[in-house]
Amino acid sequence: MFNVAIDGPSAAGKSTISKIIANKYNLVKLDTGAMYRIVALLVSRNNLDVNSEEAVLSVFDNMDLEVMANGDMILNGALIRDEIRNDEISMLASTASKHELVRARLVKLQQDIAKAGGYLLEGRDIGTVVLKDAEVKIYLEADSEVRAQRRYDEYIANNLDVAFADIKQDIEKRDYQDKNREHSPLRQADDAVLIDVSHLSIDEVVDAISAVIDSKVVV
Ligand code: C5P
Repeated sequence: MFNVAIDGPSAAGKSTISKIIANKYNLVKLDTGAMYRIVALLVSRNNLDVNSEEAVLSVFDNMDLEVMANGDMILNGALIRDEIRNDEISMLASTASKHELVRARLVKLQQDIAKAGGYLLEGRDIGTVVLKDAEVKIYLEADSEVRAQRRYDEYIANNLDVAFADIKQDIEKRDYQDKNREHSPLRQADDAVLIDVSHLSIDEVVDAISAVIDSKVVV
């Protein structure tokens, strides 16, 4: 079974697209960002200093993380869902993820999960670090304006009171942190196929990725 790596900046539509592609090709989807978010949740719950690598590493002492076949994550016996989907956790996750040893712990977990093949991993360093040998590598790019608009529309649909300018600023700040960190910065792998999704519909992106998969692997 082949593996698929999908990387790209925040709010480029990775989750939505990954879910559809995983269903279409019978792959198990692993949202690696959720793992960094769970670390961030523990940093927040324990009032730790996210800038201290040692402090962030200490969360692993009390972190029993189970990843279910359907992608659900169980932290110390409890299903994790909405509590990792807010702006505070997004920014904490981005900051926690700059630490080399924190990354090493999560990368190892991700590689262990995907080693049997048949996985689709989405994140920032999948094609460059986690699954360097993935049969298919995709890098999704989109204008920050388009990404902010997408996030804004989601928030408004959920009756959340937010300002577009704040969302855009938040996305750009995370992009900057993710692209400029010392360890495993967000970048397109040399052998990844770049798809600019700024002006594409979901169906068009799915078709573009399917064409890459169909050309690289026999399904
Ligand atoms: O994908 P998501 O926005 O949920 O990821 C949250 C944060 O986790 C990202 O901003 C990034 O800093 C970090 N991350 C990472 N490597 C990954 C996945 C996520 O550094 N493979």
